[in-house]
Amino acid sequence: MSPTTPRIQYDCSKCPGYCCSYPRIEVKDADVRRLAKHYALSFEQAERKFTRWYKSDEGPERILRHQKDETYGSICRFFDTTARRCTIYAARPAVCRQYPNGAKCGYYEFIKFERKHQGDPDFVPLA
Ligand code: SF4
Ligand code: SF4
Repeated sequence: MSPTTPRIQYDCSKCPGYCCSYPRIEVKDADVRRLAKHYALSFEQAERKFTRWYKSDEGPERILRHQKDETYGSICRFFDTTARRCTIYAARPAVCRQYPNGAKCGYYEFIKFERKHQGDPDFVPLA
């Protein structure tokens, strides 16, 4: 039996980018290297410009810097807040590539339900 890829059941083009508003989006060394290459910067320059350190209970964690956002309050600095999309798709960190880690996105299910319930295809619920 050959493995089958599950059908993707979410549509990011109909979502204002909720996952990009997560306050802690981890950036590993390989992600900094990718960003540095993308912007022709050194590792240190890219790290300083695009990331900051967060003190979690598990220890320090390097995360993406944020910017202000009218929809969610705060969102990843690489997010285009007008077009509502990632501006560095090819160079985005691994965690962004993996999300939502399956065929379904919980927020998309939520937004679909709320839009149907409200009778408003553009409604944006705040999770
Ligand atoms: S929250 Fe889900 S539907 Fe919205 S952009 Fe992220 S992955 Fe796509
Ligand atoms: S790098 Fe792109 S995909 Fe990742 S959180 Fe930022 S805007 Fe979203």
